[in-house]
Amino acid sequence: MLIPCPHCGTRPVEEFTFLGDASVKRPTSNDPASMDQWFDYVYLRDNPKGRFDEYAHHAGGCRAWLVVSRNTATHEVYGCVTARDYAKAGGKS
Ligand SMILES: [Zn+2]
Repeated sequence: MLIPCPHCGTRPVEEFTFLGDASVKRPTSNDPASMDQWFDYVYLRDNPKGRFDEYAHHAGGCRAWLVVSRNTATHEVYGCVTARDYAKAGGKS
């Protein structure tokens, strides 16, 4: 699988470390009433079949945090943006 890093160009997947679902939103409150939201944020993850946005660290290249959008069934890569650009776009790639 090849990943189109926005800084380095197209690179092999072995240069990247993946760290899970990028679409999960961190709760904004530390209020004890929001503990269920924190539990979901920390422990519960979906395992979708199809399009999936995933954090990736380009450890073997520019060392930037990225979000790779790919198909979990076919491994087709739709795109790759910096984590900052992904956050600015409201969690959409
Ligand atoms: Zn890179």
